[in-house]
Amino acid sequence: MGASPDRIESVCVFCGSSDAADPAYLADAARFGKLLAQEGRRLVYGGGGVGLMGACARAAHEAGGDVLGVIPQFLTSRERALDVVKTVVVRSMHERKQIMFERSDGFVVLPGGIGTLEEIIELLSWRRLELHRKPVVFYSPGGFWDPLFVLLQHTVEARLTPADFMQSWSVATQVEDILPLMAGRLRAGDDDEAPAATRRVT
Ligand code: AMP
Repeated sequence: MGASPDRIESVCVFCGSSDAADPAYLADAARFGKLLAQEGRRLVYGGGGVGLMGACARAAHEAGGDVLGVIPQFLTSRERALDVVKTVVVRSMHERKQIMFERSDGFVVLPGGIGTLEEIIELLSWRRLELHRKPVVFYSPGGFWDPLFVLLQHTVEARLTPADFMQSWSVATQVEDILPLMAGRLRAGDDDEAPAATRRVT
């Protein structure tokens, strides 16, 4: 696959905070963090030092990348905020997501748990409401995210979600394919210039 997009300067990564995750997922998160740094993209993430979040951010930072963490005050000790990267400390989970959204040109979803699900479902629901058209790429090793896609397809088949909504994201099965897929989505028309009226989400 080709080079990364020029207009994607900051990439938001949603991913798990568990250190008990499959070591392969932790290694993939670190590999993606390093790739972001090598490609000169800023990592925007949830600010923690744990799980895939910490692995991704540490690797990006160690490879000389620009990293921005966004973490609510009450989670700074539980999620062990990384003190070596730029961190914005906010008051709430809502504020965290708002800032992560505003500071990012595209979104990557690595394996994660309920928190990751919450973040990506909100992001996709904003897309459904045409509040944004920023590119979204799932990294789904071994079909990790397939059950979510099956559930979403189920809502399509029940005529509760339009079928074309299923085209709102791309799925990578190799870490190296994530940024090129994001570039492809930009070329195909995903960007944040589209539905202007209600861009700000709260
Ligand atoms: P998890 O996938 O459960 O390990 O959570 C991944 C990240 O999502 C963690 O940093 C959580 O703090 C974060 N998270 C969980 N719920 C929310 C929420 N409502 N808004 C923003 N971040 C959240």
